[in-house]
Amino acid sequence: MKTQDTAELFTQMIDRIKAIDPVNSRTWFDDLRLVEFNGGRLEIGCPDEATAQFLQDQCSRTFTQAAQNITGHLVSVHFGINGSSQTHSAIPAQGVLKLHPDYSFDNFVVGPCNRLAHASCMAVSHSPGTTYNPLFLYGNVGLGKTHLLHAVCHEARKTESGISICFLSCEAFVNTFISAIEKGTLSEFQSRLRSVDILIIDDVQFLREREQSQEEFFHTFNALYNNRRQIILTADSAPSELSRMEERLISRFKWGLVARLDAPSYETRIAIVQKKAHLRGLDISEDIAALIANKAQTNIRELEGALTIIYATAKTAGEPISLDLARRALGEQMVSAERPITITDIINAVTKYFDVRQADLQSKKRSQSIALPRQICMYLARNLTKHSLEEIGGHLGGRDHSTVLHACGKIDQLQQKDPATRRQLDELSRQIQLG
Ligand code: ADP
Ligand code: MG
Repeated sequence: MKTQDTAELFTQMIDRIKAIDPVNSRTWFDDLRLVEFNGGRLEIGCPDEATAQFLQDQCSRTFTQAAQNITGHLVSVHFGINGSSQTHSAIPAQGVLKLHPDYSFDNFVVGPCNRLAHASCMAVSHSPGTTYNPLFLYGNVGLGKTHLLHAVCHEARKTESGISICFLSCEAFVNTFISAIEKGTLSEFQSRLRSVDILIIDDVQFLREREQSQEEFFHTFNALYNNRRQIILTADSAPSELSRMEERLISRFKWGLVARLDAPSYETRIAIVQKKAHLRGLDISEDIAALIANKAQTNIRELEGALTIIYATAKTAGEPISLDLARRALGEQMVSAERPITITDIINAVTKYFDVRQADLQSKKRSQSIALPRQICMYLARNLTKHSLEEIGGHLGGRDHSTVLHACGKIDQLQQKDPATRRQLDELSRQIQLG
């Protein structure tokens, strides 16, 4: 095929992707390059590893479908990195840096709710280890903590490409630490963590009650701090409110800058909806943005969820997006939101969805086929009801609050990484809210 033909084919393919999967499409798809199309193998060049990873994880089916539609042949799509100039030396073996390409500073809307957190992350990404150390961000779930952490990584790498960054969820820190003890590779683990330029641990509240991990983290913290390496931490509450955390750690968390993220105001929510739509190349009218901003008030992830529901509804109905359609798409949820959701509603929906028995969810069984639905129940109960962790644990076989907290963290991580889980959770939430 002539170069011009393949270029034309690629343009058509990107247009097709935008048509079949608007929610997962991004305006920057236009900047992707066709590297090779040969014998049914189509290779796409991405600017960096994060982009290639994102496309592989979230969009490979859509790309394959579009490629097959356009060429009329079976095609396998591969994502590579342009010029392969990226090095991976900055990535520690266990903490593989999987950055989300959307989570940049450019895509973060700054408002009164997050101004300090944003500014301090910016400062730290430009001169790690010298401005605010440690930087401690805290706030409720869905307010942009993880987004800011990814943005720091993107920006720090732009400023200094060889910078070594270790970015771990707190759970990954704990698990890696435990497995290093088991495998007898503790000193390797320690020296790897202690030699990075930036150490980022997301959701440090998971260190609660884990005394040995706290001890390990304490020494890692000291080593990095003394060498003027940057430490960035996030949590769901302020350092002094982190119960069952060693006092010496809490005091260190406060040595640098502590920045809180609050729920966004109406104006900021509108700007975020517009930003998310813009990123996907979607036109969104002011009245629809306002509708979404009114609907989702506390967790920003819900704003994106609402946008997705509207586009999915429009696609299924084969209708253009109008205010009326948006109201219908979100309307069902708004009406039912007046009825308080109970844990029983959640258990009923989850048992039906996964085809498991309630007695099993409440039993001591720990097989994956039971444990996962049980953890999903805990996560949904935490997000959709006002019950305490103890009460949730009580409904699920008398489990204690730390088990529930652990489950919520696990499912939250999973849904961030795995689009299929996210869809399951969205579908379950929808069923529960419809009653
Ligand atoms: P947290 O880690 O605090 O639970 P996340 O960083 O995972 O929250 O954010 C949840 C979602 O909301 C992400 O998709 C993120 O991009 C988005 N988000 C949060 N705050 C903002 C913001 N100020 N501007 C744009 N998107 C945001
Ligand atoms: Mg997070």
